[in-house]
Amino acid sequence: MSKKFIREVKETPVNYECDVLVAGGGTAGVLAAISAARNGAKTILVERHSFLGGTMLNGAGPLHSFFNLYKAFPGAEKIQVVRGISSEIIDRMVECGGSPGHLEQDKGGSYDSVITIIDWEIFKEVIFDMMMESGVEVLLHTMVVDAIMDGNTVKGVIIEGKSGREAIMAKTVIDTTGDADVAFRAGANCIKKHDTSALGMPFGMGGVDMPRLLAFLEENDMVTQIVRGDKGSETDDVLRLGFDLKKVPIFAEFMEKEEMWGPLGVSRYEGDYSYINSVKLNAVDATDTKALSEAEIIMRKKVMSLARMLKKHIPGFEKAYVNWTPVGAGVRYTRVVECEHDMTLDEIVNCKRFDDEVMLYGFHDCAPRIMIKDAGYYGIPYRAFLPKKIEGLLVAGRLITSDWAAHMSTRNTVSCMAQGEAVGAAAALCAKHNVNPRELDVQMLRKTLRDQGVFLG
Ligand SMILES: Cc1cc2nc3c(=O)[nH]c(=O)nc-3n(C[C@H](O)[C@H](O)[C@H](O)COP(=O)(O)OP(=O)(O)OC[C@H]3O[C@@H](n4cnc5c(N)ncnc54)[C@H](O)[C@@H]3O)c2cc1C
Repeated sequence: MSKKFIREVKETPVNYECDVLVAGGGTAGVLAAISAARNGAKTILVERHSFLGGTMLNGAGPLHSFFNLYKAFPGAEKIQVVRGISSEIIDRMVECGGSPGHLEQDKGGSYDSVITIIDWEIFKEVIFDMMMESGVEVLLHTMVVDAIMDGNTVKGVIIEGKSGREAIMAKTVIDTTGDADVAFRAGANCIKKHDTSALGMPFGMGGVDMPRLLAFLEENDMVTQIVRGDKGSETDDVLRLGFDLKKVPIFAEFMEKEEMWGPLGVSRYEGDYSYINSVKLNAVDATDTKALSEAEIIMRKKVMSLARMLKKHIPGFEKAYVNWTPVGAGVRYTRVVECEHDMTLDEIVNCKRFDDEVMLYGFHDCAPRIMIKDAGYYGIPYRAFLPKKIEGLLVAGRLITSDWAAHMSTRNTVSCMAQGEAVGAAAALCAKHNVNPRELDVQMLRKTLRDQGVFLG
């Protein structure tokens, strides 16, 4: 840490005023913005990239999971646990050819019984349409760099983009930056969690002969997860494909040394292994600019080495080339905001329900090793999104849940989507009734969420 400082005195124009300001237009943020605007709030969404969707399009492959884990428990009922606006987005994606919908796993059903695959470019179009339809003002290419405080109450944020430094005043601010950039700068207690988790960098390859690859994997008993279905090809029906690459001797040592796993992947179109998740890096603090820059360079190198190895040694990859890498390293865990309730693994696996729950969820990323009991689902209470000690602020996404094993459930895409919908509606109700998030009538919020199609049991 430097001991030298410069003092800056700045006059920043207040160029925007709104009811609800959503910081970060990723997985949780897009749902929060649509939900807030549909509930009548003047809503502004600020996103640092040029598109919306965040890690849902730049880290995650299939969305986990709208459903419960019924395939791991013979006789269990199949239940769509996450509904509401999240489900509506998938319906819209299916309508315009952007998703084959919810797909039952042919193999790997006790990890996740149903996965949902989306075309990321079509998602970008659909989600911009939905923003415009609901009246959200979207500011892209813009960083939220500070919180505007009055005592311990957040009154707005400072943004920086090509127009320079500007202020946005808001009745309620929602932090969906993943890294808790607003909550941290507002003075909320944040716990750093990067030691126990990893950064990841999935990538995609074109020119892959998927049927030839699958034949090789099946001959060698390497397939761990598969979904077959129609992807508009006469010869290729592999949509989801995970395999144990370490079974090939030359990869065993290489992957051990490079700390790679799997891979688990998705193939959306013929000849395209669109998403290959294998590369990771442990113990990187992704809120440290230098550490993140170094990690990015290391992981990009690992991606290219793995791609070359696949091309050289695995049937089906002979003519393959890397055709996609994410905008940046995928981050699983950085700052966790200390909230009024912190979800525990015990609550998750034992299907705990709460009087003030605002969403339900039924997937755990460590299944079948850690499973939610009897294909059930648990609730997340409104309190889990309320930072301690700070007013005027709600948080949602991968920045809640301080226990690693519990986070392995709440951090997944479909959970973050449902969280976003809940806090968006909450913030709009706060503006409408002129109350602080801490004072909001939660039963009124639950009724509003039910009315917009959210399943609350
Ligand atoms: C490698 C990897 C693989 C994964 N695989 C899966 C999977 O297969 N299935 C699954 O369900 N989940 C998966 N996950 C987990 C899941 O994708 C994420 O946990 C989830 O998408 C996080 O959602 P979020 O809304 O909290 O954050 P994000 O979706 O990352 O959204 C945060 C948004 O805020 C923006 N932002 C950040 N800081 C600022 C700022 N200061 N100003 C303005 N904008 C800002 C970002 O650009 C981003 O758009 C994976 C995660 C990783 C890293």
